[in-house]
Amino acid sequence: MSEVLKIENLSYVYPKSAKKALDSLNFSIEKGEIIGIIGPNGSGKTTLIKAISGLVEYEGSIKLYGEEIKSIPRIELAKKIGVMAQEFSPIYDARAVDIVEMGRTPYTNLFGDLSDRDRKYVDFAFKALNITHLRERMFYSLSGGERQIVYAAKVFAQSPEIFLLDEATVHLDIGNAQHLLLKMKERASEGSTVIATFHDINQASAFADRIIVMKSGKIYSMGDPEEVITRKMIKEVYNATCEIVKGPSNVVNVFMTLDTMLVNQ
Ligand code: ADP
Ligand code: MG
Repeated sequence: MSEVLKIENLSYVYPKSAKKALDSLNFSIEKGEIIGIIGPNGSGKTTLIKAISGLVEYEGSIKLYGEEIKSIPRIELAKKIGVMAQEFSPIYDARAVDIVEMGRTPYTNLFGDLSDRDRKYVDFAFKALNITHLRERMFYSLSGGERQIVYAAKVFAQSPEIFLLDEATVHLDIGNAQHLLLKMKERASEGSTVIATFHDINQASAFADRIIVMKSGKIYSMGDPEEVITRKMIKEVYNATCEIVKGPSNVVNVFMTLDTMLVNQ
């Protein structure tokens, strides 16, 4: 296994903010790994994705194949890292196909002309995500979930070595979420590395080889899903009461309870 990313003493404070959004993080990621990042609202998941995307002036170090992310030119970084941000709102409305073609930007010339190879990647992305029927639709005429799949197709067309996904399934129904995550697993089995944040702990548990639990900008715990997803963690990190059950393929599932007897015990 070869190390793709090495993160050392990574910290970040937003301008005018008093508290660290990321506080001394240390971990590394191997090629082909699928990492799930979970943690409550405001725990730093999105900031971590932004830092690895090279979008914030972090302190400490993020090395991609040994090279500091900050010093890699943006266009080179975009050939290696594809980001699906938590929010995607293009300034101008455009057809789904125009959005997906934007995934090829790191490879096109100054005029944005697509080569035959670029068009193949775009067609592949539409087919892989089963959205060929949305090709000519205007982006803002689509439902929230459809927009999210088009956005996923853009990063598929980019075909990066590393996928950074920030709550990529949040608007998707169970069928579309499953399809997207299976496609991502396929990419990982072909050698891509996937780092994905999740709102839904059960999706993270089913998807990831390794989970990182964030709390207040720090890593609370890190390891196999069945190691880190425990009642104690859910209580200490999310302040929630739940039951943990092993499902098919030994995937750990979290069930929130609304039984006040259990919550107050
Ligand atoms: P998560 O994605 O886990 O919900 P974020 O990484 O978005 O959390 O936020 C981490 C912390 O940084 C939170 O306390 C949040 O309020 C703060 N934060 C996020 N964006 C900004 C910003 N643009 N300016 C100031 N503080 C921010
Ligand atoms: Mg977030």
